[in-house]
Amino acid sequence: MRQLIAGNWKMNGLQAEAAALAAVLRDGADGLACDLLVCPPATVLAAVAAALHGSPVVVGGQDCHPEPAGARTGDVSAPMLRDAGAAWVIVGHSERRLGYGESNGLVRQKAQAAIAAGLTPIVCVGETEQQRLSGNAEPVVAAQVDGSVPPGFPGVVAYEPVWAIGTGRSASEDDVVAMHRCIREQLVATLGEGGAGVRILYGGSVKPAGAAALLALPGVGGALVGGASLVAADFLAIARAAARDALSNRAAPG
Ligand code: PEP
Repeated sequence: MRQLIAGNWKMNGLQAEAAALAAVLRDGADGLACDLLVCPPATVLAAVAAALHGSPVVVGGQDCHPEPAGARTGDVSAPMLRDAGAAWVIVGHSERRLGYGESNGLVRQKAQAAIAAGLTPIVCVGETEQQRLSGNAEPVVAAQVDGSVPPGFPGVVAYEPVWAIGTGRSASEDDVVAMHRCIREQLVATLGEGGAGVRILYGGSVKPAGAAALLALPGVGGALVGGASLVAADFLAIARAAARDALSNRAAPG
């Protein structure tokens, strides 16, 4: 299985900017050794999906409501994302867990809704700085995995330490390897054998400069990229650094 490089555009991108970014990605994505995904805002998702149709770059949403339709002013459902051209969706990003009080149970419902709509979910997990400093990072993240990933999970988990998102800071290589090992163990405990095949991404201030070293770490199945995914050259440089099997090193040394 190839590594996955996923770009989260967050609340950025008017029509013209999104079209320009998609056009450069389309031109630069041929021949990459990884899977490439971009998650634009819902307002431009259909246009970006149309612009990237037939290219190796697939498109996803950034969140979905657990229900397929109904009286939910302002929300976007998984079938709506699918209808607009999405194949994936991010759920449980820390900006939603912390900013909107989303629980593990709600994230799990969203992942289930995504799967039911034919989308592949990326479930985000990650500890706050306080949780890491108090020595609780691994139990916190393991509990997030256990509570957020539904049975038979066909998706991807993204480990994103909250303190590393958008800050220019990133976890040490030892901490990344240790946490990815912890997540793998929890996935197997929660899902059984199926947990061994789930790709685990790292996210948090991933930039071209450190990408090759990060993506070569045992257990790292790709990257979830925020800020750098808005700069086509940077996003493609990170994608070019991902050139090996996502699961080849999953049995990281203890
Ligand atoms: C993110 O928000 O998922 C993220 C990883 O952002 P950044 O790369 O900007 O830290």
